[in-house]
Amino acid sequence: MRRKRVTIVAAASLTALALAWPVATPGSVLVFMVLMLTVHWPSRQKRLRLAEPPAPADPVWPGRGMKAAVEALQEPALIVDRDMLIRYRNPSSAIAFGNMALGDAVSLRFRSPELLSAIEAAMADAMVHSATLEEKRPVERHWGVEILPIPAFQGEKPHFFLVLFHDRTAERRVERMRTDFVANASHELRTPLASLTGFIETLQGPARDDPKAREQFLPIMREQAMRMSRLIDDLLSLSRVEMKRHVPVNTKADLVTVMNKVASQIEPVAKEIGVALIFEGPETSAIVEGDEDELIQVFSNLVENACKYGPEGGRIELSVKRASERGEAVIDASVRDFGPGIPAEHVPRLTERFYRIDVGNSRSKRGTGLGLSIVRNILLRHKSRLIVESTLGQGSVFTARFPVSGGQETNSAESRKLPFDSMA
Ligand code: ADP
Repeated sequence: MRRKRVTIVAAASLTALALAWPVATPGSVLVFMVLMLTVHWPSRQKRLRLAEPPAPADPVWPGRGMKAAVEALQEPALIVDRDMLIRYRNPSSAIAFGNMALGDAVSLRFRSPELLSAIEAAMADAMVHSATLEEKRPVERHWGVEILPIPAFQGEKPHFFLVLFHDRTAERRVERMRTDFVANASHELRTPLASLTGFIETLQGPARDDPKAREQFLPIMREQAMRMSRLIDDLLSLSRVEMKRHVPVNTKADLVTVMNKVASQIEPVAKEIGVALIFEGPETSAIVEGDEDELIQVFSNLVENACKYGPEGGRIELSVKRASERGEAVIDASVRDFGPGIPAEHVPRLTERFYRIDVGNSRSKRGTGLGLSIVRNILLRHKSRLIVESTLGQGSVFTARFPVSGGQETNSAESRKLPFDSMA
């Protein structure tokens, strides 16, 4: 409006000038044209600019800050664009999933339909979506994946999506162990229970008036009931030691005294099966940070196993010795038998709950498959570990290796009072 008024006033003034002073006409026309150009040119430019489509919003990518944030994440993370192409990945993702080239489709590396459709869903509704991912190779791993849309400017749909991986492998393993444990424990209890129920029904039914059958069945029933009771005792014991596994030991124990006590407990049983217990203990005591009762449980289990699985050798040797491991002083307390030995492939699994080389053989020897698992848990609490060495046909050595405690060796009256050699 203002421009129009300027134009009319300028035109009128120049016409008046031209009429009053004709010589000035060419100059007036020139001035008029320059004036019009100055007044109207900017508005034309503006009109042209408005007719153009709006410039796109500043892209979020590539932003150094965003890269740095993704890079700083400990867990594997990718940035994926709307075409499902990988635009960025942090070093953790390269460790977890191998090298992925920028610009590659996500589906090239991840075939999981669940993951891909979660990314698509996040693109469609710009909301957070999650998925699970299971990788079988090179090792089995479980991931929880979150797809987080990265907000774009000016209310636009997100251009990029953060794909964040959480490692759930350990949780899944614990979950599986728990379910396996419950399944194994119920199976172990159900077997003697089924046998007991069967005998009871027979004695109530067809063998009601059969004293011979009663005589025959009752000892078997008793044995089955004892087996259930042993299993429950071991289960409780295992749960107790597992609960205490992280509680530091704040007492000291003498391994020589422990071995003496174990030997006195088991000696009658060993004698019965014709096995000699031989002790190669030091004259002095061997003090470790330890709970004496728990350590007695460890070595009783090991000596009982040696009696159960290696009586053929005719002797079991117990020893407490100083040794060194990677320059550090340690104390080794061992139980050696001269039985048939353990095939190498079974050795790494012996401390798993319910793991038995021969289930029938273990059951017939009143085993529950929990003994070495209890041993392992107690030793963990004592910062000690179990070393199993075995040679087929020659026997096995189970060694508990203890760090040397602050306490120094002292003369032990008790260890001299009960020399094992005399028990052989
Ligand atoms: P179990 O109650 O069956 O004895 P353990 O956990 O104590 O359970 O032992 C697990 C398995 O390890 C046993 O079933 C047995 O097969 C094997 N084993 C343990 N000690 C010995 C040994 N000294 N000689 C041979 N095999 C052994």
